[in-house]
Amino acid sequence: MICAFGLTEREAGSDVSVMNTTAVRSGDNYIINGHKIYITNAGYADTYIIFAKTDESKGARGISAFILEKGTPGFSFGQEYKKMGIRASMQRELIFEDVCLPVENRIGAEGDGFKIAMTALDVGRLGVAAQGVGAAWGAYDLALEHAKNRVQFGKPITANQAVSFMLADMATSIETSKLITLKAAYLLSKGLPFSKEVAMAKLVATDTAMKVTTDAVQVFGGKGYLVENQAERFMRDAKILQIYEGTNEIQRLVIAGHILK
Ligand SMILES: Cc1cc2nc3c(=O)[nH]c(=O)nc-3n(C[C@H](O)[C@H](O)[C@H](O)COP(=O)(O)OP(=O)(O)OC[C@H]3O[C@@H](n4cnc5c(N)ncnc54)[C@H](O)[C@@H]3O)c2cc1C
Repeated sequence: MICAFGLTEREAGSDVSVMNTTAVRSGDNYIINGHKIYITNAGYADTYIIFAKTDESKGARGISAFILEKGTPGFSFGQEYKKMGIRASMQRELIFEDVCLPVENRIGAEGDGFKIAMTALDVGRLGVAAQGVGAAWGAYDLALEHAKNRVQFGKPITANQAVSFMLADMATSIETSKLITLKAAYLLSKGLPFSKEVAMAKLVATDTAMKVTTDAVQVFGGKGYLVENQAERFMRDAKILQIYEGTNEIQRLVIAGHILK
C-alpha cells in the first residue's frame, strides 16, 4: 500500500499553525474543506494522513490528524508539478470539497495533530538525512573515479592539490554525515529521544549532499554539466533535501530550541 502525508498548504509551509483546511464536526462525521500542496505520492497513494483545523481559534493546538482513503467523494487531486530534480517522485495538490469522514478516521484526540505531524517529521528526517548521505556518496564515487583517470597537463588531475583536497573534504564530510545519521538511527531504534540529533543529522547530511554534489560536477569539468552525466542529476536531486521535511533553517530552529532549553 502506498501512503501520503498531507500537511503543507499555500499559506502554511514552515509555519503549519496557520493552515486553512478545516474539519467541522457534524454528528458522527467531520466535513473537510481546503487543500494541500506539494504532496508526495498524491494520486498514487491509497491512503492519506491529512491535517486540518478542528478549532480555528487555537493555532497549532487546534490541528487534528485524519486518515483519508483515495476515492472518498469530494477528494481530488490537482496538477502534477514539474521539478528541478527527484523526477521519479511525484507531487500534486490535494483538494477537499465537503469530504465527509467518520469520527473513527481521526488519529488521536482532537488537537493532537501538530504533535503527530512533528513526530512523523522526526522519523522522516532520518530518511532524508540518509538520502543526503547516499546522494553525496554516489556523486563522490563518480568524481573520484573520474579524477583518477582524467589527465591534464600530462598528469592525473588528482596530482593537483586543489582537486585532491576537494576529494578529501568530500570524503570527510560524507563520513561525518554517515556517523551523525547512524547516531540518530541508533537513538530511534532504542526508543530514546532523538529529535535534536535527527535535526542535526538532516542539516549536516543534506548540506553535505549539496556541497559534495556541486563539487563533484566541478571535478568533472564540462562533462559534469551534461545531462548524460549522473553528477548533474545528483546535484539537482540534492537541493530538495535542504528544503523538504522541514527546511534546514527550521532544523536550526529545532536544534536551538533544544540547546537553549
Ligand atoms: C518535492 C517536494 C515534496 C514535498 N513533499 C511534501 C509532502 O509529501 N507532504 C507535505 O506536507 N509537504 C511536502 N512538501 C512541502 C515542504 O515540506 C515545504 O515546501 C517546506 O516545508 C517549506 O515550506 P514552504 O515551501 O512553504 O517554504 P516557506 O515556509 O515559505 O519558507 C521559505 C524560506 O523561508 C525560510 N523560513 C521560513 N520560516 C523561517 C524561520 N522561522 N526562520 C528562518 N527561516 C525561515 C525557509 O527556511 C525557506 O528558506 C514537499 C515539497 C517539495 C518541493
